[in-house]
Amino acid sequence: MSHPPSRPAAQDTSAAARSPLQGTAGTFALVATIVFAAALFGILTRPSGFLAAFWPVNALVIGIFARRRRLASWAGWLGVLAGFLAADLASGNSLIPTLRLTTINLAEIATGYFLFIRLRKVDQTLSAPISVLYLFAICAVAALAAASVASGLGYLQTGTLTTRRWVIWFVSEIASLAVTLPVVLTAPSLRTWAFKPRRDEISEHLKNSLPFVALLASGIAGTLMGGPGVLAYPIPALLWCALNYNLFFVTVLTALFSIGEIMAVSSGLLTLHAPGEAQSTMISIRLGVTFLTLGPLTVATINSVRNKLLRSLEHAASHDFLTNALARGAFVTRSSETLARVVAKRQSAALLMLDIDHFKPINDRYGHAVGDQMLATFARTVAATMRESDVFGRIGGEEFAVFLPNTTLPDAMEIAQRIRTSVEGVATPLDNGATLRITVSIGLADVRQPVDTTLDQLMRLADKALYTAKEAGRNRVAQLGFDTAGSAASGPASQFAV
Ligand code: GH3
Ligand code: MG
Ligand code: MG
Repeated sequence: MSHPPSRPAAQDTSAAARSPLQGTAGTFALVATIVFAAALFGILTRPSGFLAAFWPVNALVIGIFARRRRLASWAGWLGVLAGFLAADLASGNSLIPTLRLTTINLAEIATGYFLFIRLRKVDQTLSAPISVLYLFAICAVAALAAASVASGLGYLQTGTLTTRRWVIWFVSEIASLAVTLPVVLTAPSLRTWAFKPRRDEISEHLKNSLPFVALLASGIAGTLMGGPGVLAYPIPALLWCALNYNLFFVTVLTALFSIGEIMAVSSGLLTLHAPGEAQSTMISIRLGVTFLTLGPLTVATINSVRNKLLRSLEHAASHDFLTNALARGAFVTRSSETLARVVAKRQSAALLMLDIDHFKPINDRYGHAVGDQMLATFARTVAATMRESDVFGRIGGEEFAVFLPNTTLPDAMEIAQRIRTSVEGVATPLDNGATLRITVSIGLADVRQPVDTTLDQLMRLADKALYTAKEAGRNRVAQLGFDTAGSAASGPASQFAV
């Protein structure tokens, strides 16, 4: 990483003091050490046949580079190269195979990394429902790159191209990436661990250990029973874990489970061939397939619950609690969108501004609670006269607005009058046995011809009309409109006055 030359030297020194591994050399050393250690571990565990098909180093590098972007500098990439070469040579490999394997690994890491950093931030931390699928697709493309480079290099060496070599590379690389990357991506950062040990969280996990015990039990049951279906036996327990534990812990469990299965099969502990007769094979497959179906079903259920929750949250955020009308912001947004459509389609529209008459004395005389009750009743009365396409919002206090798309002036007038008479007709019973009536004044602004009107202009015009209605004695409708030139033209004010 290069620093701008103008940067004060003192700042560089303090940065270096904070972390000795900053700067170009530090990045190189850090990355090279991580890759060397991880690769050596991979190589050394290979001959035992234990981890024959598992190579987590590439996913580790992709994940670390993605999370600490400054490490993915040219020094970091050189560190990766050096780490791989050193580990291979240290374990006694000759130069040509070492270069071949390193090229394949670098192709996979570069493909995975450069695709991954193009994902949205929420997907990079596996925080959206679709993230895991994106990640899986990237693992597939990176594995494809590795398999293709491996096949190409194999062709250069032997002069033959085999599908088998390609498939083996692809499958083992996609498996290693898909198992390891989620763990690296969701791991709490070292800083978090250093500052708080999270003892409460760990003890919470221990208390809540039943899903984990179930996972162990399903593994043991699968090992004892054998057959091709056992690979899916831990799925219910894993789902249970997923519903109880945090994301990182679940990625670790899933990785351990996957590695465990690969190891158990390759070491012969888990027998996928039918242990004996065809009947036990059938039982194994049926159980396995049944458990497999639980995955998508659980996801679908959770998704539908989540969608319902999101809808109710969205409703709560955009609606006024007392009157259930749209809150001001949501009203403006929705009406503006509708108005834009109306203007584009050259339709007419109208906006009504409603203000309850003499509302303050009601509060003063009967109390705020009665005032609230009147507001709620008023909003219900207005909403009952609305069409599906109309937009109804509370602008503030006892002031409301209704946007009427695709409505001519006579229709808008009729609707306004209907609202006015409905409100007038409602008698709200009070606790003391008396009934209370209110009236409303309405200002109407309309877009008579398709002109370029903004909602703001329309609201101001309706406000002006409302003022006219109040001036003229309240409990009436007054109207102003836009002429074809787009400027406000006074209509026959309070022509429909009662
Ligand atoms: P006008 O006919 O000129 O509109 O008279 P008004 O009394 O209705 O007008 P004004 O704007 O002076 O008073 C509005 C009152 O509405 C003032 C305030 O106490 C009351 N108000 C505003 N929001 C609420 C609310 O959420 N609940 C209750 N109970 N009262 C409210
Ligand atoms: Mg009022
Ligand atoms: Mg008012």
